[in-house]
Amino acid sequence: MQREKSDQLFKIAKECMPGGVSSPVRAFKAVGMDPLFIQRGQGARIYDVDGNEFIDYVGSFGPLILGHSHPEVVKAIREAAQNGTSYGAPCEKELELAQMICSAIPSIEKIRFVNSGTEATMSAIRLARAYTGRSKIVKFEGCYHGHADSFLIKAGSGLLTSGVPNSAGVLEEQARNTLVARYNDLESVEKIFREEGRDIAAVIVEPVAGNMGLVLPDPDFLKGLRKITSYSGSLLIFDEVITGFRICYGGFQDFAGITPDLTTLGKIIGGGLPVGAYGGRKDIMSRVAPEGDVYQAGTLSGNPLAMAAGVATLKILQDRDWYDRLEVITYMLATRLKTVFEEHGFFYTINRIGSMFSVFFTESEVKTYEDVLKCDTAKYAQFYRHLLEEGVYFPPSQFEVCFVSCAHEMEDIEATVQAVARALDKMA
Ligand code: PMP
Repeated sequence: MQREKSDQLFKIAKECMPGGVSSPVRAFKAVGMDPLFIQRGQGARIYDVDGNEFIDYVGSFGPLILGHSHPEVVKAIREAAQNGTSYGAPCEKELELAQMICSAIPSIEKIRFVNSGTEATMSAIRLARAYTGRSKIVKFEGCYHGHADSFLIKAGSGLLTSGVPNSAGVLEEQARNTLVARYNDLESVEKIFREEGRDIAAVIVEPVAGNMGLVLPDPDFLKGLRKITSYSGSLLIFDEVITGFRICYGGFQDFAGITPDLTTLGKIIGGGLPVGAYGGRKDIMSRVAPEGDVYQAGTLSGNPLAMAAGVATLKILQDRDWYDRLEVITYMLATRLKTVFEEHGFFYTINRIGSMFSVFFTESEVKTYEDVLKCDTAKYAQFYRHLLEEGVYFPPSQFEVCFVSCAHEMEDIEATVQAVARALDKMA
């Protein structure tokens, strides 16, 4: 694989950007190599500056459910840009997207747009604290909710990847207000509530954990969280930044039949442009400024380009056949990959739901954070490097999720299976 240009650019980037990147996982540290600079994305494929072509399973870490550069989305952005890129004033597209989301996810009676998933979760927590008059929050080991101080406590994603459970610069006073429970372990939640229930403003959870690799919720886990929080007067926040519009049109809460008090969104609702949102029950959301006393604002919030890209994306996804197609194609990919791994005699687990999946190098099933930590990350790194050489772009960490898009065709799936087989051949 040619990579002279990427290497040259990375060398320069490291001089003027920390680690040469704008977000840690992109540096490819966990897979023991330097990153590729991407020049172009089209459909299910990305192309780097050295002219290499890859079948892409990162999809910008989740937003690109329609694939790269979808013509309808590009058209919507182009048309919006012709009328200006930002007004700092309300616009109709913002209202259209708000209405689309509120009708798709009925627990969201009112919504506020922000610019990232981090802003969404950070603001939702502030709101929960104001609404309940309580100070503490509960999060789960291995779950990631962005980089606000309250969440950088045993977080997943890049932090799990680099084995740093906390971040420097987060005050102990702040960390003390974040209580950490174990995913899929209701007892750990009950214990925390027995001890500190009266002080807990909210439980925030990824209803499907996607930042320690893909870990699915046990059937009773989320129901249990709903029960415990309702009983204790705490709010339940579903962080659907990844799962919103990914697994089904109504978010994972629709799939699971559970109604959270607040939901955070991002990624897909911006069609690949920077966006986030939080929303929920009217009586809670009415506390947000200017209606209420919880301050939260944003120069570019509700940005017309992002709103247009979001509306265009959701309009396409309203045809629910896309979700059936994603289910079938990803099921086929996962099934074929299982066969390939077995034929090559590797220990592995593949977790999958809808168009999200993770391949773990491990002997056991992966249902908890402890299971995740047992995975052979060195083997994943080796696998990753070979797979990249074979033209398939997986996430550059064992702890991120693969995403299949509507642009992936059966021939991409077939090519991926063959590439994985060749990568495993080289590892054997
Ligand atoms: N919540 C979840 C579940 C996420 O996966 C992420 C990012 N991957 C975030 C929040 C933070 O979103 P952003 O990177 O847009 O700030």
